[in-house]
Amino acid sequence: MGGANLIMQDRHFSFEFFPPKTPEGRDKLRNTRAQLAPLHPRYISVTFGAGGTTQQGTLDAVLEIQRDGIEAAPHLSCVGSTRDSIRQILSTYRDNGIRRIVALRGDMPSGMGEIGEFRYANELVEFIRAETGDWFHIEVAAYPEYHPQARSPRHDLDNFVRKVKAGADSAITQYFYNADAYFRFVDDVRAMGVDVPIVPGIMPITNYAQLMRFSEMCGAEVPRWVAKRLESFGDDREAIRAFGLDVVTALCDRLLAGGVPGLHFYTLNAAAATKAIWQRLKL
Ligand SMILES: Cc1cc2nc3c(=O)[nH]c(=O)nc-3n(C[C@H](O)[C@H](O)[C@H](O)COP(=O)(O)OP(=O)(O)OC[C@H]3O[C@@H](n4cnc5c(N)ncnc54)[C@H](O)[C@@H]3O)c2cc1C
Repeated sequence: MGGANLIMQDRHFSFEFFPPKTPEGRDKLRNTRAQLAPLHPRYISVTFGAGGTTQQGTLDAVLEIQRDGIEAAPHLSCVGSTRDSIRQILSTYRDNGIRRIVALRGDMPSGMGEIGEFRYANELVEFIRAETGDWFHIEVAAYPEYHPQARSPRHDLDNFVRKVKAGADSAITQYFYNADAYFRFVDDVRAMGVDVPIVPGIMPITNYAQLMRFSEMCGAEVPRWVAKRLESFGDDREAIRAFGLDVVTALCDRLLAGGVPGLHFYTLNAAAATKAIWQRLKL
């Protein structure tokens, strides 16, 4: 077996989709799935709108993925939910043979509804364990550059540790373009007794305006040199894609060389950018 293959042993590669809202969106996602399935991901996860706004769409997408013979992992956000409603969703997933869940607090759209019976993701993780024992493999979110609402970096680390200790099996990070932030985060939480795998979330770069908007909202830093170069390409989408591919492939290379347990790709329901990174990495 070659050196590259040895490095890849035991690494988990996964993809993330969001539930499409229109028939065209569903067709597009089917096409994306058909292109990405041959890459044999460990699982594909599907996001969940806070307050249950995509509950049926998430379930439908997850069942379609399962029918393709790929493990599917619904996200489940608890903000705005009651214990009863979460219990019901868990039972539907269980009845459909789902064994992995990404457990989140979520963000309530402004002006929409009450906070509900769960305040933070650690309470959801605790509830899932209490209700369903070890049935689900529970993934939680991690923030190497810290969650935007965190009172302080130290609090955020404490809260992450609390969430893992409540029963999480592994974590997926918010996307980042600064590998040092990830490695430092992992060192910090390892020193606090966390030993679960922490898989970097990878956001391909294909659209400058969208990337800056997302990053502003979720607190991910786009390094100045990357933002400046992307901005300078104006409407030249090909140049943005080519540069984005260089930047993200170099990031993944560095993460893999540093021993990450896998990579989780935020595909935004499109196959091309994720496939291009995959091929460059020779996965
Ligand atoms: C991999 C990934 C997938 C995602 N998927 C979705 C999705 O499908 N749907 C969706 O709506 N959103 C999704 N998000 C976004 C996520 O819901 C938001 O980032 C949300 O603001 C925080 O969710 P969390 O589960 O990390 O929250 P938490 O872990 O609860 O943390 C939220 C904030 O509260 C603080 N905190 C945590 N616990 C406590 C406590 N006990 N006391 C005081 N403060 C505390 C934390 O420091 C942090 O600032 C995803 C994010 C990631 C990284």
